[in-house]
Amino acid sequence: MGIIKILDESVSNIIAAGEVVESPASMIKELLENSLDAGSSYIRIEIKNGGRDVKILDNGKGMSQEDLLLCIERHATSKISSKEDLFNLSTYGFRGEALSSVAAVSKMIISSKNEDAETGSAINISGGKITNLKELQRTRGTEIEIRELFFNTPARLKFLRKSSTEYSNIKDIVTKEAMANPDVSIILVIEGKESIRTSGRGIENCLLELFGKNIVKNLKTFPLGYLGIPSLNRSSKDSIFTFVNGRAVSSKVLDSAIIEGYHTKLMKGKYPFVILFFEIDPKEVDVNVHPSKKVIKFAQEDEIYSNILHQITESLSGDISFTTVELDLEEKELEIKENFNFISMEDFAVFQEKAVVKPPKLEHHRPVHENKVTDAVQKNFDNFFENPLTEFKESYKFNIGLKNFKVIGQFLNSFILVERNKELEIYDQHIVHERILYEELKKEYLEKKITSQQLLVPIKMNVLLKEKDLIFDNYELFQNFGFEIDDFGKNEILIRAVPAFNFRESIENMMKEILHSLGENNNKLEFVEKIINSISCRSAVKINEQLSLEEMEDIISKLHALGEYTCPHGRPIILKLTLDEIEKSFKRK
Ligand code: ADP
Ligand code: MG
Repeated sequence: MGIIKILDESVSNIIAAGEVVESPASMIKELLENSLDAGSSYIRIEIKNGGRDVKILDNGKGMSQEDLLLCIERHATSKISSKEDLFNLSTYGFRGEALSSVAAVSKMIISSKNEDAETGSAINISGGKITNLKELQRTRGTEIEIRELFFNTPARLKFLRKSSTEYSNIKDIVTKEAMANPDVSIILVIEGKESIRTSGRGIENCLLELFGKNIVKNLKTFPLGYLGIPSLNRSSKDSIFTFVNGRAVSSKVLDSAIIEGYHTKLMKGKYPFVILFFEIDPKEVDVNVHPSKKVIKFAQEDEIYSNILHQITESLSGDISFTTVELDLEEKELEIKENFNFISMEDFAVFQEKAVVKPPKLEHHRPVHENKVTDAVQKNFDNFFENPLTEFKESYKFNIGLKNFKVIGQFLNSFILVERNKELEIYDQHIVHERILYEELKKEYLEKKITSQQLLVPIKMNVLLKEKDLIFDNYELFQNFGFEIDDFGKNEILIRAVPAFNFRESIENMMKEILHSLGENNNKLEFVEKIINSISCRSAVKINEQLSLEEMEDIISKLHALGEYTCPHGRPIILKLTLDEIEKSFKRK
């Protein structure tokens, strides 16, 4: 007797559900697209319980009672009927798999009414089986309520991500759908709090409602959408939004054309804020690469790449507000290595006024003459026994206050030239100082010694919703660093206190740097490390900043006291030229 059998439909639906609704976020995407396919102009989504409880309401064309009873069947769709239709899709959905999948793994109520019907109908479904049907009075449109998603698939339930991650994914999805459908009013309410609300009054209002005016005023229109000024940059591709034929997609070709378009305008590792709406004959696109329809492929990749690149460079060139601070050639090369953000005098004045933090000046809170045995000294002692070389003597001398170097001067206001051990050394002043601050801050953090300074005038700052979540989901960590931050409505936060540190840049820039460097799935340690990195980078002296001799000596002394000769990211920070090398270059040898 054979052992192969056809699976019971309820089993096969649960299996299919694994692919279609792999998470609450992907379920919301399906439901939202159903509402959009139904021609709604208003859609409201409420979520709770990490996305396991969802209610979505629309004013679309609705369903007749007959359709309502069918819609949760596998492969039930009103959107295509023949093979040919597959190549002429104008709707998001066509597989007829979403509702059957969701129904299979949740408890659901769907109520709906279409134009023709006198009354509406509602069905209850549990684990894919209709348990109740009734008629009711309601307006045109559909309301779907899902409870206890994955209640009958314990394995899935166990692998649900934490609520904040899921919420942030959901917001991402809703944000993109809202941008793709700016004439539809979309509202997202999470745990009773409104998180997104667009009015359906066109793309520009939509962008304003989603991102706030600080971002929108820094966008420039171009034939294919919107280009952000370089300072809106991020450390991830999160703020590159690409749409093809009105659908949010991700495409390597589009991304690389955009990134290349900003080449030389942005530092390495930074990505622009760009919204691209690309229209193309659907026959030239394969949207079917992935069941979630997110990743797409083009038939004519090269053509599309150069077309988009051309449009962007064309729009960016010659526009003064779209070019970064003018730098000399030498510094331009440097710029690629490090993420410097120059602050304008104007900003600086505002910052001083607002923040009431002491004007930037190097602190001397760790005198070189300190006579106690520091870790560095201890290390040198240890070294000595293994390796009794002059190096020990030199650093020992140094630690007890005998300076073993001579600062010759500053090159291009960026590099400190030093004579030490009969060698000419060149120090990158920013990286050296960054390293020192990094170590100091890390030590203070570990010893819980970071103190907080209240700002006389709190700083109001525009952030993305995602960034706001990052802050408040990890608020304790921010507090450990001395930050005090309030939620100040939709896209804004209020910074009330900051670590008592000598910032060389606006607090807003520093906070931006922190938020941009943080990813969603950082563990606590990575999080702390990134905050320390951002603060030290933003507080360190910059390239192109004139230093006094005393300041240079202080930096170099501290570095050698520390004995760490790479930047926090592992790059070397001293360039050496030995006497031998110099003499050889002059053909003296
Ligand atoms: P698909 O979207 O691929 O057709 P779904 O399982 O998502 O498959 O939906 C099945 C059918 O249910 C749709 O084709 C549509 O006719 C109907 N439907 C689903 N959601 C709605 C809605 N919000 N408004 C009106 N009809 C809907
Ligand atoms: Mg669908």
